[in-house]
Amino acid sequence: MDAPLNVLPCPRLPHPHCPKPHPPWRTTGRAALTARLDAGAKAHTHRGGSGGDCVQVGTDPGSRDRPTTMHSMGVHIQPLTGHGVVTRTQLLASGLTRATLQSLIETGDVVRLDRSRFAMPGTEPHITTAVAAGGTLTCVSALRHHGARILAADAIHVRRPIRRRRGRNLEESVVECAAPSGMPDHPLDGVDAALGIALTNHSDEDAMVILDSILNLRIRSRSELHVALQGHSMRATRLFARADAGSESVLESVVRHRLRTRGIGVRTQAPIPGLGRVDMLVGKSLLVETDGYEFHADRESFREDRRRDRRAAALGYSVVRLTWEQTFSGWPQVLADISAIIATRRHLRQPRTPPTGSKRPMRQ
Ligand SMILES: [Zn+2]
Repeated sequence: MDAPLNVLPCPRLPHPHCPKPHPPWRTTGRAALTARLDAGAKAHTHRGGSGGDCVQVGTDPGSRDRPTTMHSMGVHIQPLTGHGVVTRTQLLASGLTRATLQSLIETGDVVRLDRSRFAMPGTEPHITTAVAAGGTLTCVSALRHHGARILAADAIHVRRPIRRRRGRNLEESVVECAAPSGMPDHPLDGVDAALGIALTNHSDEDAMVILDSILNLRIRSRSELHVALQGHSMRATRLFARADAGSESVLESVVRHRLRTRGIGVRTQAPIPGLGRVDMLVGKSLLVETDGYEFHADRESFREDRRRDRRAAALGYSVVRLTWEQTFSGWPQVLADISAIIATRRHLRQPRTPPTGSKRPMRQ
């Protein structure tokens, strides 16, 4: 983390990513950057007439993080670290003087997290909170940052080395997750490290949602996950073996996991002639479809779901359609209803094969 930052000349001003006009130029910022400008960064004239220097600073020019800027000092620092937290050493090495850094802290452009670390503009608030608590953003919070789907988790999940726990009270929103000792002391855990901690600290259901989404969203391939989970517990291996890359939502993962846990065999994303793919098929003819809000909120989806249900009934299928609320607030009744269908062996009825030519969706 103490590697020198890259200093990049700003291509033009206003900076392409600056949404607001620059306030008047402050000479402290300009003076502080003289050293960097000598090193090759370009100075430019501010549109408003006062001269200024615009410098972007980062450690990873390949990062896709949105660049951010510091308007009040006229200093453009681009934290390309992937997490936005930099050390004092990095900042000073990039040409900022101590006085400029102090001014940036006073204007709120830079947030001091502890004695040596600072959050650049645009740093995710959860990372700021984790580092300010003396820890690393990890577990489900880090996985969400990396794009995985997780079950609702309002808390900020952090891990902390023992030496950082003393004298630092955690905010109510922060949860401390158990982690092996000796993990690197950085602001944000990567996917593999965060996954390992989530698998240790969270329920099978939480873990299944995460594993499914990592595969489904191609954050990791199955072989990459296999390697990442080597050396983890038997439980992690067992859960990984049951993960399903076809699961397209949190709700689908949860329902599948709950049914399988009850010994109900489920085929996911089963292709049904005349109907297309269904979320889950139980036996030969019981369809379980989930209405995750993200895919079923609009009128068009509502209509399409009804069309599919009608078509499924015509072909001899029973359909159980589940919403988020029914699954999380009324699961015992859902399970009782599905079990009742299975008890009367209706799920083993042979559905009709649609006549050739009826594979295209019927119009309303
Ligand atoms: Zn956790």
